[in-house]
Amino acid sequence: MEIPKQVKSVISQLEKNGYEAYIVGGCVRNLLQGIEPEDWDITTNAKPEEIQKIFPKNFYENKFLTVTVQTESKNPRLKEIEITTYRLEAKYTNKRHPDKISFAKTIEQDLARRDFTINAIALSQQPTNNKQQTIIIDPFEGQKDLRAKIIRAVGNPEIRFNEDALRMLRAIRFVSVLNQNHAYLKKWQIETKTLKAIKNKAFLLKVISKERIRDELMKIIMSKRAAEGIELLRQTGLLKYIIPELEQGYRVSQNKHHIYDCYEHSLLSLKYAAKQGFNKYVRWAALLHDIAKPVVKEGEGQSATFYNHEVIGAQMTIQILNRLKFPKQIKQKVAKLVRYHLFYYNVGEVSASSVRRLVRQVGLENMDELLQVRMADRIGSGVPKAEPYKLRHLRYVIEKISQDPISVKMLKINGDEIMKILDIKPGPKIGQILDILLEEVLNNPEKNKKDYLQKKTKELGRLTDKNLRALAVQAKKQREQLEIKKDEMTKKKYWIT
Ligand code: ATP
Ligand code: MG
Repeated sequence: MEIPKQVKSVISQLEKNGYEAYIVGGCVRNLLQGIEPEDWDITTNAKPEEIQKIFPKNFYENKFLTVTVQTESKNPRLKEIEITTYRLEAKYTNKRHPDKISFAKTIEQDLARRDFTINAIALSQQPTNNKQQTIIIDPFEGQKDLRAKIIRAVGNPEIRFNEDALRMLRAIRFVSVLNQNHAYLKKWQIETKTLKAIKNKAFLLKVISKERIRDELMKIIMSKRAAEGIELLRQTGLLKYIIPELEQGYRVSQNKHHIYDCYEHSLLSLKYAAKQGFNKYVRWAALLHDIAKPVVKEGEGQSATFYNHEVIGAQMTIQILNRLKFPKQIKQKVAKLVRYHLFYYNVGEVSASSVRRLVRQVGLENMDELLQVRMADRIGSGVPKAEPYKLRHLRYVIEKISQDPISVKMLKINGDEIMKILDIKPGPKIGQILDILLEEVLNNPEKNKKDYLQKKTKELGRLTDKNLRALAVQAKKQREQLEIKKDEMTKKKYWIT
């Protein structure tokens, strides 16, 4: 794989001005793995002011000391390229960005402050004598670890985690995210000493800002291997500093309806949600839907109960996501999915009005996701099916009750206007004309225009009462048939009979 020309051009302009420049970080990792990088980061020994001079079209955020350069590319991944000056290790304490940044002289110094060997590789490609030359600077043997699928801290892991405890969470994030493209091959692993250091230093996560934790956690949840990531968090001891409530369900058995304990069940639900590619709301709800079970559990063994766990669970969901600084909209939506995950539906037993009430409580826009949470819950319980027929039938009922009824209100003309046009008083004639017009518009939606309907009304007004009535009866019959047909099509859409 090659560096795109826009990136190469930024590098060569820096070089022409006498500076060094390389791509670095995630994009090098991706490039060496043959994956198209999400974004391109460049590192250089030019200072921010010097970078700005070379690239007039730039955007400089002083706080991050990164200059963002705009390119001509239409590709969103290449539109903006970030250039950062070589840095020395800086102390992060608990903030998103280091307290103080000082510049480094060499690329090796810059690579040494990076977290993992696979992230500490610098690369550049330049044409020399008509030939493409690739230069790779890899002082910590990151390429070797990339091939062996090993996450290894740069330098002494305990020292590196003391500097910035978020790195421990990042290690697990990289395992979860990198594993997803390699389902059948060897899995990514955290190197022994690095893993041991995480276990020893897990408590340091306490001082890390919740926003930084949230961002890494979200990447774990959104990876295909989300459940394995959460389990790794538990095994390393990090989970208790992130979502202790989840760990509380570990080894908490359920009852005769369940073969898995609370924690395992939550993980298996998340696993299914991730495998299906469900969105963040569904994944979070799958993970948290039974979060209150350990809290409300009464009794032991086969007949244990968990009354109200969905209500308490929704409250706990808000607390947890609040603590992790999630935006209000995410908190509320996930809590809603948790709150209603126990909804009951059975064909022929639950009436349309009960479904209507559920839709009102959950919101029509959230119903798909609620059904997905239910599927994840079912599969996570070890039952072989995600309850497809029942849920399809429920989808059909939801669509049916949310469809606008076919009615004369759809017409671009109303009874008052008809009375005015024909100069008549209220009476059966108006309803009859509306029925006939509606029938015509249903067959031919483009006829639903005021001037056409006015003209047609005048024509109908000239008919005898008897003829008009006959036409109206016929129109109504056809409409009923249309409704039956529409219902059949909705049923077909959801594969139900
Ligand atoms: P992604 O594909 O998710 O963007 P990435 O490796 O680019 O992965 P970023 O979080 O974008 O990850 O960070 C870019 C680079 O900056 C990393 O590859 C790493 O070299 C360095 N880095 C980021 N965060 C830290 C940290 N907390 N400590 C040390 N180095 C870090
Ligand atoms: Mg990145």
